[in-house]
Parts: sequence; C-alpha cells; structure tokens
Amino acid sequence: MSAISLENVTKRFSADTVAARDINLEIDPGTFTVLLGLSGSGKSTLLRLINGLHKPTSGSVTVLGTEVGTARKTQLRHLRREVGMVFQQFHLVGSMSTLENVCTGALGSLRGPRMGLFSYPKAVRQRALEQLDRVGLADQRFQRADTLSGGQQQRVAVARALVQQPKILLADEPVASLDPESSNQVMSLIAQIAREDDLTVICSLHQVELARHWGDRIIGLRQGVKVMDELAADVSSDDAMRIYSAQWASEA
Ligand code: ADP
Ligand code: MG
Repeated sequence: MSAISLENVTKRFSADTVAARDINLEIDPGTFTVLLGLSGSGKSTLLRLINGLHKPTSGSVTVLGTEVGTARKTQLRHLRREVGMVFQQFHLVGSMSTLENVCTGALGSLRGPRMGLFSYPKAVRQRALEQLDRVGLADQRFQRADTLSGGQQQRVAVARALVQQPKILLADEPVASLDPESSNQVMSLIAQIAREDDLTVICSLHQVELARHWGDRIIGLRQGVKVMDELAADVSSDDAMRIYSAQWASEA
C-alpha cells in the first residue's frame, strides 16, 4: 500500500489561482521524495493537502490509509500525530529552551496549556531529550532557542517533529534559510533519521544538487502541474534545471 496517494487532486483558491491541477501521485513507504519548483509552483500547497491543512477542491488525498478530505475529527487528530512537519522559518519559540521547544511537538497527545519545561510529563521530556540527542544538541538543552544558529534551530525543529514518532515527515524548504554547509548538515540529518526510523519523507527544495543527492525521487511542479516525476538517479543536473527555465514552460 502507498503511504500517500493523491488521485486527481485539484486545489483552487480562486478563479485564476489553481495551486494544484489534477495531480496523481503514489508515494511508497520509506522513500525520500523531493519537490522541486519555482516559488508559487504549488509545493507548500501540496504538502498542506497531505497533512490535511487544506482540503482539495476535487479529488482525494489518502494518507496511511485514511482519506483526509472525509476523515472524522478523531481520525484527523490521529493522522496529524503520524505526520511531522518542518518549515523554512523553523517556528521555534525563541525565549524557550531548546528542550521545551522539542516538548511542544508532543502537544497533539496532551491537553491544556503548558507553562515551562517541568509542566511536561517526564516521559515527554525524556523522549524530547532523546530526539535532541539524535540531532546533536543535547548539550544545548537548556539554552534559549534564539541563541542558536539557523542550522541548529532547524535541527531543534527536526527533533520537535520527531518527538511524536511520526511515520511521515513533510519538510517545506527546510534549508532555504541556511548557508550551504548547514543545509548539507540538515539534509544529511533528515536522511539519516529517515533511514533509521523508516520514515516516508517529502521535502521541497530549491537546490537541484541537493534534490539529486538526497532524493530517491524528484517531482517537479510548475504552476500547480506535475511536470516531472523521475527517480533521482535518472535525472541529470540539466534535466532538473529545466524545471526552472522559462522556455520550458511554453514547451511543456
Ligand atoms: P510554493 O510553495 O511552491 O511557493 P504555494 O503552494 O505556496 O507555492 O502557492 C501556489 C499558488 O497558490 C500561488 O499562486 C499562491 O499565491 C497561491 N496560494 C497559496 N496559498 C494560498 C492561500 N491560502 N490562499 C490563496 N492563494 C494561495
Ligand atoms: Mg512554499
């Protein structure tokens, strides 16, 4: 069974804004898929359709056997726990410690507002520390998040996404705000954790070389249309760059 399946999915925001056009997609469990495309091509929309933040205008999105569009609230809540998210802008709370930021990833399974690290159950703190250790930041656990470098902040965000032990990790341009060295570190970390935890990863990127290096499969989007869907090993640099060429738009 596919981990993620999209059938004829269209997402229309207005008469002339169609962010996904009749997309069909089957994602095998345990694979690493990269989305490539210009700004506005529909990468974030596709990720939001998969985690249920957007409902398709038409078509169906099925994640781990649950159809997102028709799922009941309890099913959706369960699904959210199976799908971790990482964003370009990290979205950490700067005034909180790194460990407390990671703890917030477990909130889906808890109730009520939380005040301070020790308001989290010990088991959550334990799990959070384990994930923080995996991303190499256990020593910084009591440090304020806003004192970390961008690369370190994104590693904290990865740990936060993992604390709920998801089966799927969606990463929306996770390295777009980082320098090349930190970008490589973060991508390498995501790939390593994905292997260890047998995660299904969908990651949007701008850099063709990162896509070819880390992806098993590359999906190219252009104005909401899937214009490329290939094994990364079969995609040359020039092929991938065509996603960005204006000329190709008129050819495609
Ligand atoms: P990308 O992530 O590749 O930059 P997006 O998925 O963010 O692309 O956007 C695809 C298109 O959908 C763009 O034209 C964008 O302006 C539009 N769009 C995205 N989200 C919304 C929204 N919530 N409301 C209206 N239009 C949106
Ligand atoms: Mg985006």
